[in-house]
Amino acid sequence: MHQTTPLRLPKGRLAGIQRVCMRVPLLDLKLQYAPLKAEILAAIEQVADSQHLVLGPQVDKLEADIAAYTGAGHAIGVSSGTDAQLVLLMALGIGPGDVVVTTPYTFFATAGCVQRLGARIVFADIDPLTYNLSPAALEEVLANTSGVKAIIPVHLYGCCADMEAICKIAATYGVPVLEDAAQALGCSHPMGAAGAIAEAGWYSFYPTKNLGAFGDAGMVTCKDASLASKIRSLRNHGMEPRYYHHSIGGNFRLDAIQAAVLNIKLPHLDGWGAGRRERAAFYRRAFARAGLDQVLTLPIEPWSDAGIGNHHIYNQFVVRAPRRDALRAYLSEAGIGSEIYYPLPLHLQECFSHLGYSTGDFPESERAAQETLALPIFPELLEEQQAYVVETVKKFYT
Ligand SMILES: *Cc1c(COP(=O)(O)O)cnc(C)c1O
Repeated sequence: MHQTTPLRLPKGRLAGIQRVCMRVPLLDLKLQYAPLKAEILAAIEQVADSQHLVLGPQVDKLEADIAAYTGAGHAIGVSSGTDAQLVLLMALGIGPGDVVVTTPYTFFATAGCVQRLGARIVFADIDPLTYNLSPAALEEVLANTSGVKAIIPVHLYGCCADMEAICKIAATYGVPVLEDAAQALGCSHPMGAAGAIAEAGWYSFYPTKNLGAFGDAGMVTCKDASLASKIRSLRNHGMEPRYYHHSIGGNFRLDAIQAAVLNIKLPHLDGWGAGRRERAAFYRRAFARAGLDQVLTLPIEPWSDAGIGNHHIYNQFVVRAPRRDALRAYLSEAGIGSEIYYPLPLHLQECFSHLGYSTGDFPESERAAQETLALPIFPELLEEQQAYVVETVKKFYT
């Protein structure tokens, strides 16, 4: 991943130069690491000294703390967010002949895991305001599809999907809901913490997620104790006791060093979430002041009425922007990082061509893929940098 440290110059006399030299990276993980460096290195050293390198007490602690933090009944540490979803679907016995419904506007893994197990993916379009699975589209798919074994809403960008409507529809059809909360640890819905509302869910600790490890790591959550023990067994080749295998799992184990880093970072997560929300609020005010809130479509906070403070934790701050690609090039020229999540919806990906979808099947997902842009957001982002982003966007449109 490309990262640069923002250039900091003294205020006052050099302010003009600072403007010329301003760099605003999409994300800068070095700024989060710096104040925690001594603590993190000490924790890593402790794991090194113990030589307990896979699973073990650091993983146990992380699992207990994530379960407590989210209110999930059970939390099982695994090797990545992708593996979390894969092992969960394996534990549920999802495979050939089964159908899984999800959104085509998400990171590839959400659908990739379903395909890897030989189940059939059926997509349902998104809501254009939240970019999350549309309850109406879901209902239509369920009414017309048999063999559906799971519904996977994604809390994209750190914004909770409409879980109340989705769970209600799912209950009508008797289908379990599995939450892809890879981008949404720390995000709350009136029904609970994202990833711990429905039957099961998962988080990713990939470094760019809101709680990032020093490599790959993930976590499965679920309500049912016997499902949890099945997942625990499958993450270690279905082995119980050693070298006796009841079922075919995989190596989805979590490394102790990753858990140790995450154990240091977890107590900071709420503070970082608040920092992201403050920066989102700053963008909102600044774009409105610049008269751009009608030009751009800013992210919405769908559960504000419920008085929930962190229903969107802005893993990404995504706007719809006219002439998106030209804006992105203009920002890049001005030293401002941005990203497109995601440029091609999954139903149009080459590897899913066998599903038989074509352009026009999911118009909201296709439109979002063409119109949206993620702007820099992270807890250490400076107000001057955000003001510069807004000013540069304004220049582009005038
Ligand atoms: C990151 C991500 C994943 C996969 O997580 P990894 O830890 O990278 O395997 C799955 N779904 C979504 C929506 C993601 O953003």
